[in-house]
Amino acid sequence: MKIINGFWQKFDIFSLRLRLILGIALVSTVGLSGLAGWTTWKMQKILINSHKADISKIADRLPRDVQLYHEMMSVEISLQKAIKNLSNQDTFLWVKSSDQKIIAKSNNWNTLSPTIAIELMSLTEMSTQPELGQVNQHYFVLCGGNLSVDGQVLGKLFVVKDITNEQLMFMAMVRSLSIASIFVIIIISGIIAIYIQHSLQPLRHLSQMTTVISLSDLGQAELNIKNAPTEVKELTHTFNKMLSRLAQSWEQERQFVSNVSHELRTPLTIVNGYLQSVLRRQNNLNSTQLEALTTASLETERTIRLLQDLLDLARADNGYLHFQKQICDLNELISEVVKMAEKYSQRVIKFETINQVIAAKIDYNRLKQVVINLIDNAVKYSPSDTEIIVKLNLEDTEVIIQVCDQGYGIPLQHQSRIFERFYRVDEARTTTGGCGLGLSIVKTLIESMGGKVSVRSHLGAGSIFTISLPASALPDHI
Ligand code: ADP
Repeated sequence: MKIINGFWQKFDIFSLRLRLILGIALVSTVGLSGLAGWTTWKMQKILINSHKADISKIADRLPRDVQLYHEMMSVEISLQKAIKNLSNQDTFLWVKSSDQKIIAKSNNWNTLSPTIAIELMSLTEMSTQPELGQVNQHYFVLCGGNLSVDGQVLGKLFVVKDITNEQLMFMAMVRSLSIASIFVIIIISGIIAIYIQHSLQPLRHLSQMTTVISLSDLGQAELNIKNAPTEVKELTHTFNKMLSRLAQSWEQERQFVSNVSHELRTPLTIVNGYLQSVLRRQNNLNSTQLEALTTASLETERTIRLLQDLLDLARADNGYLHFQKQICDLNELISEVVKMAEKYSQRVIKFETINQVIAAKIDYNRLKQVVINLIDNAVKYSPSDTEIIVKLNLEDTEVIIQVCDQGYGIPLQHQSRIFERFYRVDEARTTTGGCGLGLSIVKTLIESMGGKVSVRSHLGAGSIFTISLPASALPDHI
């Protein structure tokens, strides 16, 4: 199966390479076969025409010779003499009377096998125009006609030339020519295949270079292929122009998101401040006003969080997201986050760790933000009566932080995409107020701190988000 798959991958029937090879091989096959066929036909014609001319001459001359001899001798003797003179090793002559009796014949028939001789002599009619015939694997050019002397019809003259040897040689030559043509076609196709493979190399190179370009190096990306044909150079040039346009518009978009987030966050923070202060003095508010103000405050907080996430991502893209990395005790960091999350979510969140100091060089607040995001998701996407467990462990030189829930789980086909920006598994299910940025922030922050994040999830059973970070030893003074 693997071999068959490999074969089809290599011989992609839609590939330009295969189409060019097949096209050129087909054209050369048709061209060479046509040429070989035409040469064969022409040579056959030349060969047979020369023999036809020979026997035509004999058929023309014999009556004249008989006429000449008849002036000195009897018709029968003249006929025999003329036939003797005109026949040779390959040319056979005979004359038949009207009652199909042979009245004269050349004396070279013993060179032919008796069956062929009998078959030839049994012929009653022959065309006046020489033509090719075959008797028992032997090839002959035959012609015939009435033989008259002094206006008196003596009988029918038959002239036959044996061309078997020439014909067999000719057929052997045709066979060799066909075999040679097949070899030439195979060799030409092979050379063409190598040439096409070589010619398409720059295109393959170009496609390989384009696949490795990522968003982060779009601005610096420049395709350059040495010794490429002009057409591929032009294509590379067009690609480069397109890449720079893409980089430009990507940059503008990032700038726009960053500016908008920044400009909106400040006034919204002020609005939220006012809402909070009104809500704190809630004595003179009726229940409808209180509900309206609480909703407004919650939505404002959510929008501020979203803007902060967008700003963080835009800064990370521009390389302006600064980290104050220091070696921290992760037991302390995570137990603090777990306690806080437990209080706000009113859920049971267990913290499991080993009896050992676990430290890593990280930005304290950023890692807190990451763990909060993951716990927040675990809370959002699991039933309220299920447990959430946060585990902290050490594996070789890696610190492993896991956030496990017994929630709805994530379908396999979505697991590789949930870290993309604005990607949400199922909009209908995720009516929890998020906007699909939480996990992309987690990924960006963790990768910027030199770590990795991954997910393992089973539908209906829950999810485990795992963060791994390089471990460090805690300095003595902490
Ligand atoms: P959101 O704001 O939608 O929570 P995230 O980036 O945090 O955005 O998550 C992206 C998507 O991944 C979510 O919409 C949700 O469908 C899925 N997801 C994240 N965490 C979990 C989890 N613990 N259990 C099930 N699904 C999850």
